Amino acid sequence: MNNREIAAVFFEIADLLELQGVAFKPKAYRKAAQQIETLDREIEEIYKEKKLKSIPGIGEAIAKKVSELIETGKLHYLEKLREEIPKKVVQLMEIPTLGPKTIYFLYNELGIDSVEKLRNACEAHKLAPLKGFGERTEENILKGIRLLERSRGRHLLREAYGDAVPYLEWMNKCRAVEHASIAGSSRRMKETIGDIDLLVTSKDSEKVMKKFLAYPQVKDVIAHGKTKSSIRLTDDVQIDLRVVAQESWGAALQYFTGSKAHNVKLRQIAIKKGLKLNEYGIFEKGTNKQIGGKTEDEIYKTLGLSWIPPELREDRGEIEAGQKGRLPKLVEAEDIKGDFHLHTRSSDGTASIEEIVAAAQKMGYKFITISDHSQSLRVAHGLSEEKLLEQTKQIEKLNERLDNFRVFSSTECDIKSDGKLDYPNQVLNQLDFVIAAVHTKFKLSEEEMTQRVIDGISNEKVKILAHPTGRVLGQRDPYKINLERIFEVCLDTNTFLELNAFPERLDLNDVNLLKAKEKGTKITIGTDSHSLTHLRYMQFGVATARRGWLEKQNVINTYPLKEIEKMLI
Ligand SMILES: [Zn+2]
Ligand SMILES: [Zn+2]
Repeated sequence: MNNREIAAVFFEIADLLELQGVAFKPKAYRKAAQQIETLDREIEEIYKEKKLKSIPGIGEAIAKKVSELIETGKLHYLEKLREEIPKKVVQLMEIPTLGPKTIYFLYNELGIDSVEKLRNACEAHKLAPLKGFGERTEENILKGIRLLERSRGRHLLREAYGDAVPYLEWMNKCRAVEHASIAGSSRRMKETIGDIDLLVTSKDSEKVMKKFLAYPQVKDVIAHGKTKSSIRLTDDVQIDLRVVAQESWGAALQYFTGSKAHNVKLRQIAIKKGLKLNEYGIFEKGTNKQIGGKTEDEIYKTLGLSWIPPELREDRGEIEAGQKGRLPKLVEAEDIKGDFHLHTRSSDGTASIEEIVAAAQKMGYKFITISDHSQSLRVAHGLSEEKLLEQTKQIEKLNERLDNFRVFSSTECDIKSDGKLDYPNQVLNQLDFVIAAVHTKFKLSEEEMTQRVIDGISNEKVKILAHPTGRVLGQRDPYKINLERIFEVCLDTNTFLELNAFPERLDLNDVNLLKAKEKGTKITIGTDSHSLTHLRYMQFGVATARRGWLEKQNVINTYPLKEIEKMLI
């Protein structure tokens, strides 16, 4: 275990003891944790030299616990504490308006063990009648919950990525920078991101830090050190920069890219091979000789794996696949030949078809799909039957003029709550194909919603089911639907599932994409663009597809135009 991990154990013990109202001890554990976290060498080495007690703040009792952690990777004392207090209760300590004594009292009195339960209890005024509580306490706690949620503020991939890429370019302009990379969840392209991690190698870390802090959009400097600094940007995104040694570049990149679960498994493999893996490199256990870590590739190879693309590093089977040399060959941005979901200014978009065609051709695309909203979706200016048919004729004419490029005429047709489509068949039959979607009545039972969607996609003309779970990140949870059933029906009816690339949607998500792939259901990626700038959201679609293990053949956007025409029309 490295310093950071051991420190985390003692921070947790301190929290748990504090919750139980234990005096003094929490402070001692916290002090020890801070000492360990900021040591300039590995605590394992100090342990081997039997000098643990030379570390300030570490006495007999804590030294014993450190030894146990290093020798067994576990700590009996912590496990016992965890049995007494669930982890979720500890998380309540993050609420700024709530003290540990109150948390422990509410846990014992009302069984409140999560933020959700606490919120419900306050809203139902279950606290006010308790001794020492009142309505003001409830209000105060609710206020704290809101504060916590805001400060926790995860950012959409689009926002975080939009910050990370230019910052990286800025750092690359610094001559003292040798290598530079984004790490963390932004490198894994997760749908939402907390802080952004940047990594750099340099012989002159001072110069690098200076450059880092001089970035024009820096609002606050949170921490400024020799090898690590943190800032907050004007849009409230936090960015951490670490300068690491050249010979540790690959190890650090691997370590700080995560995920945690992925890294835990890698370390277990290292241990089995008599090796030690940490953020500094990969070492022989006995001699401590570094045998790898300059590149990520070296780390994975030394452990007997192929290099694993960051998007896969979630411990969802990628390590086992890497050991067998059976990693998927993931779809890439360059494979994409067109976009399957676009709105024009005829409904709620801002661009004309011609403008979209020009932009798409510039991107090297071979096709686009015009899919404005259907008539009953009045808030989005859904097209009347006449208007839709007019648009179809316009597209027909446009296609005659286009060379080596095709505009598909379609509609994002509402599946109404009774499962009926929003246009009659004689209208739908005039289009190249139909995209069906749910935009209303999200609260049906799973049974009802599944049947509604099945009814919709069973129409022969429907070839794509758009944003299949309806979730909107930070705003709306997915509706209840039996996706397994939908996958099957898609196979039976020759329908494809959309990966909606709009950053608030990313629907299907990574986990569901992998399930769809395993079932054999193919995917279309659509940006759901409402303006020309949205076309570039395709990159987030591709990233999510990669996180879902999709290969070129799983994604229809990569097929030659002739084949797409055969499959959809
Ligand atoms: Zn939609
Ligand atoms: Zn749409």
